[in-house]
Amino acid sequence: MRGRTPWGEANSSSINSVTVLIHDGYMLFETRCAGCDTPGQAICTTCRFALIGRAPQPQAHGVIAAMPFAGRARDVVLSLKYRNRRQVARHLGSLLVNRLVESGDHVDLDVVTWAPTSVRRRRQRGFDQAEEIARTVGRQLGVPTRRLLTRPGSATAQTGKSRSERLDGPEFVARPGLQGRRVLVVDDVVTTGATLLGARDALEQQGAHEVILAAVASTPAAVGAKVLPFRHAARAVAA
Ligand SMILES: [Zn+2]
Repeated sequence: MRGRTPWGEANSSSINSVTVLIHDGYMLFETRCAGCDTPGQAICTTCRFALIGRAPQPQAHGVIAAMPFAGRARDVVLSLKYRNRRQVARHLGSLLVNRLVESGDHVDLDVVTWAPTSVRRRRQRGFDQAEEIARTVGRQLGVPTRRLLTRPGSATAQTGKSRSERLDGPEFVARPGLQGRRVLVVDDVVTTGATLLGARDALEQQGAHEVILAAVASTPAAVGAKVLPFRHAARAVAA
């Protein structure tokens, strides 16, 4: 017979947004907030309020962004990117829709798409965070969401490239037949804008009439060109 777990002893491990508590032989699932780790919802009420209404400074790349990539917003976006908080994408997508409606760029869109992450990253996470956000945006705007962009050779992307080549962003290839279309491209974080501008080039090469670029969060101009993984982020802020 299997040994009984004594009362009061619990093992816990964090998997995605759910903490698994093992207590007395039973598994209990506990959702925690992506922003502050409080047990309860995927994003708690306090963090929801913290994400509202903070438009980032306009940047030279011209990408529309819902919020600055800082503070609580940064924690939430990084949890989606590096800790698989997939449920968070829907909430972030809604905030981006609000910003697009404010800017007036939501009208007359023919299709919504996203700047795909590399095949390797997608495999690691099990989903593409930009696609998750784009699908929410498309659904809420009532515009079809389609995969229009691929990253050729992305299974080996970024390896064997120089730093300057990586900073130029990935090269995309767009699906043909976009003549006259007004396309919205969505990403999670915009830093230099190289990724989204590369996406726009590819779509325009296939005839897209107008390409709107949007991201959930925008890094302040002074932060530089790199989005740090979650566990490094706190130290970077302190530095
Ligand atoms: Zn919270």
